[in-house]
Amino acid sequence: MRILVIEDEIGITSFLKQGLEEEGYEVELAYDGISGLEKALSRHYDLVLADWMLPGKTGIEVCRAFRKENQGTPIIFLTARDTVQDAVYGLQAGANDYIRKPFHFDELLERIRVQLRSQADSPVLTLGPVSLNIETHKVLNKEEEVSLTQKEFSLLEFLLRNKGKVCKRNRILDAVWGHDASYDSGVIDVYINALRKKLNFHREEDYIQTIRGVGYIANEK
Ligand code: CA
Repeated sequence: MRILVIEDEIGITSFLKQGLEEEGYEVELAYDGISGLEKALSRHYDLVLADWMLPGKTGIEVCRAFRKENQGTPIIFLTARDTVQDAVYGLQAGANDYIRKPFHFDELLERIRVQLRSQADSPVLTLGPVSLNIETHKVLNKEEEVSLTQKEFSLLEFLLRNKGKVCKRNRILDAVWGHDASYDSGVIDVYINALRKKLNFHREEDYIQTIRGVGYIANEK
């Protein structure tokens, strides 16, 4: 599990890095809002811990910008602020939780565990800016609803359930079209292209990649 900590107070970052690493997390640090956002978007993290008051960009700005590109990774705010209104701003900006400074490490650890657990139990599957809710059958891209046919939905769901793993063509065909259906596997390419169009994944390297002769893989960047 990899956590990104964006915080400008060196004392807190080194304390968090040491504590979280002792708990088995891999920790990366950023010391301002701009490089923090860049880092957060450059690879996959399981959770982002961001301070509210940061040089460059505030934690709120980081959070808002990050959520446009990534719906899935939980964000916890560290904040010295304690009014209800501030907490509401944070949550509205897309944060999942917040914790007030000064905090006990154990409390932070518990909040982190809650977020990681609830993400594992969530009916929402995500890929970059896209989220798919298997209960409501709603698909959002950057918070805008995308209308998919049933087959497109099933195909996307299958790819997201197997995120990071190569999905072979015959497995996709079985899972989405049913093994006794007499479809040519070329149907997969047609549907993948339709999905890419609807989700605005214009380039090959965008989220759903083709593995020539084998199948497809959904990947965070
Ligand atoms: Ca700060």
